[in-house]
Amino acid sequence: AQAALAQAQKMEAVGQLTGGVAHDFNNLLMAVLGSLELLRKRLPDDPRLLRLLDNAVQGAERGAALTQRMLAFARRQELKPEPVDLSRLVRDMTDLLQRSIGPSVRIETRFPPGLPPALVDAHQLELALLNLVVNARDAMPEGGTVTIAARAGEGEPGEAGPMLCLSVTDTGTGMDAATLARAQEPFFTTKGVGKGTGLGLSMVHGLAAQSHGRLVLLSRPGAGTTAEIWLPVAAPSAAGAGTEALPARRPAA
Ligand code: ADP
Repeated sequence: AQAALAQAQKMEAVGQLTGGVAHDFNNLLMAVLGSLELLRKRLPDDPRLLRLLDNAVQGAERGAALTQRMLAFARRQELKPEPVDLSRLVRDMTDLLQRSIGPSVRIETRFPPGLPPALVDAHQLELALLNLVVNARDAMPEGGTVTIAARAGEGEPGEAGPMLCLSVTDTGTGMDAATLARAQEPFFTTKGVGKGTGLGLSMVHGLAAQSHGRLVLLSRPGAGTTAEIWLPVAAPSAAGAGTEALPARRPAA
């Protein structure tokens, strides 16, 4: 599970990098092509100059076609937000999570009944939880308990409507201020070469931000860590075609 997680994290990062680079590159090439067309109108009618210009245009167009393919690749990682019953999602993956972190750390769940569904990509949220639970395990080398919980809460100013908080709490080493400040950066890791990729929290951060929520880390050295994923409540209108899952849903037992 560890290797599969690292692989998924790398793919995610590659997708993000590729998408970002391809997007910027495409804009540059469009500017180059625009300038070349302006130049064509001003060039003296010299066949050698025009051929040079055509070469430049062709090169830029080939580059643009390539960036289109890169964008298509990156878009495969795009999110599919849907109404997600958090308590059910966690219940369905508790066995998998427990197997992924081994027997030294016990998983406890705390979900109040009647929480509304969150609007988020379910598969990506599973990956995010796996990342958080593995981090919790790594922070408790002597073993312990990791608690996964959810609660309803208010959004911050600027966030739309009510929010849900899905949290993963450990009683492990905690983080000092310097580590806490950088923990969500891509490739930041304190776990050493071959052990950490530094992509776990950046993935969780990216998912939360793209879902119009946020990732909040609360931690003190020696006092453990809580990672909170804040997500918007799925409003019936926000669910589009998937609304059938919403109004009739009963609180999970
Ligand atoms: P990785 O786990 O590969 O190092 P992450 O992005 O998941 O990458 O985490 C970055 C760093 O943040 C970790 O190396 C660690 O120093 C710190 N960290 C993350 N989660 C925890 C936690 N639950 N307890 C203590 N430190 C943590």
